[in-house]
Amino acid sequence: MIPNVSHLRCLVCGAEYGPDDVDYVCPRHGDEGILDVVYDYGAIAAEVSRDDVETSGEETMWRYRALLPVAPGSPTPPLRVGRTPLYESLRLADRVGVSELWVKDEGVQPTGSLKDRASAMAIVKADERGAATIATASTGNAAAALAGLAASVGRETVIFVPAAAPEAKVAQLLAFGATVLLVEGTYDDAFELCLRASDRFGWYNRNTGYNPYMSEGKKTVAFEIAEALGWQAPDVVVVGVGDGCIIGGVAKGFRDLLALEWIDRMPRLVGVQAEGSAYLVEAWERGEDVLTKPPIDAHTVADSISAGLPRDRLKAMRAVRDSDGAFVAVPDEKILAAIPVLAATTGVFPEPAAAASLAGLLAAREEGHVGSGDRVVIISTGTGLKDVPAVRRGVEATGARPLRIAPDIGAVEDAIRGLENE
Ligand SMILES: *Cc1c(COP(=O)(O)O)cnc(C)c1O
Ligand SMILES: [Zn+2]
Repeated sequence: MIPNVSHLRCLVCGAEYGPDDVDYVCPRHGDEGILDVVYDYGAIAAEVSRDDVETSGEETMWRYRALLPVAPGSPTPPLRVGRTPLYESLRLADRVGVSELWVKDEGVQPTGSLKDRASAMAIVKADERGAATIATASTGNAAAALAGLAASVGRETVIFVPAAAPEAKVAQLLAFGATVLLVEGTYDDAFELCLRASDRFGWYNRNTGYNPYMSEGKKTVAFEIAEALGWQAPDVVVVGVGDGCIIGGVAKGFRDLLALEWIDRMPRLVGVQAEGSAYLVEAWERGEDVLTKPPIDAHTVADSISAGLPRDRLKAMRAVRDSDGAFVAVPDEKILAAIPVLAATTGVFPEPAAAASLAGLLAAREEGHVGSGDRVVIISTGTGLKDVPAVRRGVEATGARPLRIAPDIGAVEDAIRGLENE
């Protein structure tokens, strides 16, 4: 029993189910029947207030436990997920041309990305189901998050990643003791295979946009942003979008807070996709129905937001439409170029998909979706250490390079003079 959850609702047909009646999706709609977790806000309001949260002393995402779909006695994993910093940057605000700008740094999560929020939730839900093994398909970060969180509680994981996943991400998985299946195909192939294998072997499935609880874990990032800003929602939140689970979760988090009257309005949500993986941008611009729009062929350097068929597209589309936000597409060069800009102006070190938020903010500014008076939060979703070769490409395009010198002071002098004369 989960006292604060009233039911699960199919986003396609609106059918309602008790949390114990279905495992993942609406049986009438198969894999497309993504469920939304619906809460009893009256019960939550009776149990907890903003003050209770602020004085809870819990320095993890479980600080918001009363707003999460977990049973009262369920243990949570020991790794410290959440409570990441929100840095204000005057310099970056100036450069972008907005009144206030904050960067939410998810690169400092235990396994280096925002995905830890969802995977921590997956561990709790798998335990509630009594499952010893958890499986997921992933472009890399969700898998690393699941493998790390599972290692912290001694659970087995089976991971399906596309064979082209960056090496650092695969190394991370193996270090955490995961069984890694490198699928010779796309993320979409890995996704389908993981569904079939989980079914056959009885594994708990963490797949994004299939397991209804992943966006519930991810929504805690919105709670933290609102709390850090004194429960004043920003005007705009910008984030990179692959499957759409993060942006859907961000919307859910702010909607929860609005329903509880802890904030008084929704921010506009801007979803950023790479030009080579712009399914949702296309659908949004053309007014297409994402239930029937066929997959596209996705290619981008930002591997974490490469998705031919965004699995959480219903939640993502709703997040942008209902908040009066926008989807924008940015070319790979601009994503890579945003890496050193974000790093050098704020000290936050992003992987390509994380820097996409800044590249997208610049595009949204040009396209008029974001104005000069807006108070904006960009989410840096993962650390640059995840994909060092991509960071290097972004840096080299600026002309920055190390200076190779002989080990003597004269060589240092020559090098520094040379820089001064450049
Ligand atoms: C997964 C991921 C995203 C995109 O999240 P979706 O839920 O797939 O839209 C963005 N950035 C990073 C670093 C990620 O790992
Ligand atoms: Zn349905």
